[in-house]
Amino acid sequence: MKQYDYLIVGSGLFGATFAYKARKAGKKCLVIDKRPHLGGNVYCESIEGINVHKYGAHIFHTSNLQVWNFVNSIVPFNRYTNSPVANFKGRLFNLPFNMNTFYQMWGVTTPVEAQTKIDEQRQEALHTMQKAGVSEPRNLEEQALLLIGRDIYETLIKGYTEKQWGRKCTDLPAFIIKRLPVRFVYDNNYFNDKYQGIPIGGYNRLIDGLLEGIETRVNTDFFADRTHWEGIAERIVFTGKIDEFYDYRFGHLNYRTVRFEQQTLDQPNYQGNAVVNYTEASVPYTRIIEHKHFEQFGSEVYDNPKTVISREYSTEWQDGMEPYYPVNDTVNNALAEKYRQLAAAEPNVIFGGRLAEYRYYDMAPIIEKVLNIQI
Ligand code: FAD
Ligand code: UDP
Repeated sequence: MKQYDYLIVGSGLFGATFAYKARKAGKKCLVIDKRPHLGGNVYCESIEGINVHKYGAHIFHTSNLQVWNFVNSIVPFNRYTNSPVANFKGRLFNLPFNMNTFYQMWGVTTPVEAQTKIDEQRQEALHTMQKAGVSEPRNLEEQALLLIGRDIYETLIKGYTEKQWGRKCTDLPAFIIKRLPVRFVYDNNYFNDKYQGIPIGGYNRLIDGLLEGIETRVNTDFFADRTHWEGIAERIVFTGKIDEFYDYRFGHLNYRTVRFEQQTLDQPNYQGNAVVNYTEASVPYTRIIEHKHFEQFGSEVYDNPKTVISREYSTEWQDGMEPYYPVNDTVNNALAEKYRQLAAAEPNVIFGGRLAEYRYYDMAPIIEKVLNIQI
């Protein structure tokens, strides 16, 4: 009989939700994390009384009522609605692409006028593709031109996307852009989901609620003493990097990462919105996050005379950096599949989450997955 039923490696949303469920099922768990805090990428640091999203802005959104009820049972969520603004050479546009954007771009005021304008531009894209003898968009540029036309592509998509991915739009897969909504109504809500918000009091409350009554250790790397950790529990839940678990035997998986330049400012309101995207190529960062707007609304913004902002610089990942976005190109997907096959045959280890599955998951699907695991 070992000391614990489960050793959970990683205290992000996957590990913390698993630990919560296991505890409810009467199992004894230990959660370890190599970072100096719990919570993985949703961790927030309180600076000047503002919850700063240390690993990038996190907005919870889902259409799954079971998931929404579950997270709200741990901590109630606020009414934050993501509505980013794009800044292109000082001109501002609402996102996602909707009637407000079309008005700002062309001065059109009705859905019919907007549709006509976009159709004209799409026709151009269709002709070019027909001339080249292709029927399906071969890359992100062709997809965007076909979806929304040249004006919006060149103003709001090209620069931002090339900064974010560090590659030309003509070298990126078309699917990346398919998830951006195009709407012929005046609606700046970025997500199509039924429910969205931020935990009242910040994400640490969610993590603390999930991990209440569970033994945890931070600054503890599984690989620093693997034999010891493998010996103390009946089963392991592993949410770290899958290639590292297998000692990189088939090679290293690649990631994109983000560098955050954080500043505290002596002013109550820097940009009037949580998220402002900088869509021109010559501005080196992709966006600026002003954290207080996730939790303070209207005049509450002025209750605190200070504000904290983060500029986000998207960069190629190297060893020692935080791995954020799996690069789901053909080479990396094939490599990940080889590791996943090894993982599937592992009798006592459950691999879960962004890094262990090498898949791009939002928060809600992570929770949904764990809620569906039989413990
Ligand atoms: P993580 O949160 O990465 O947790 C894994 C944990 O394992 C980490 O704490 C790590 O330190 C620990 N670990 C790794 N290796 C070891 C080891 N060897 N020993 C001990 N511990 C280890 N989702 C949304 O729904 N909305 C958003 O707006 C959103 N924005 C995002 C923005 C950015 C920049 C990023 C990167 C992600 C965003 N996400 C968003 C996705 C969200 O962060 C993930 O879905 C979620 O955090 C995944 O949880 P996880 O437990 O799989 O991974
Ligand atoms: N995108 C863009 N301009 C913007 C915002 C997004 O061109 O102002 C593109 C970009 O290619 C990005 C994709 O849309 O990769 C998806 O954006 P989303 O914000 O949904 O993705 P995330 O940043 O969460 O990966």
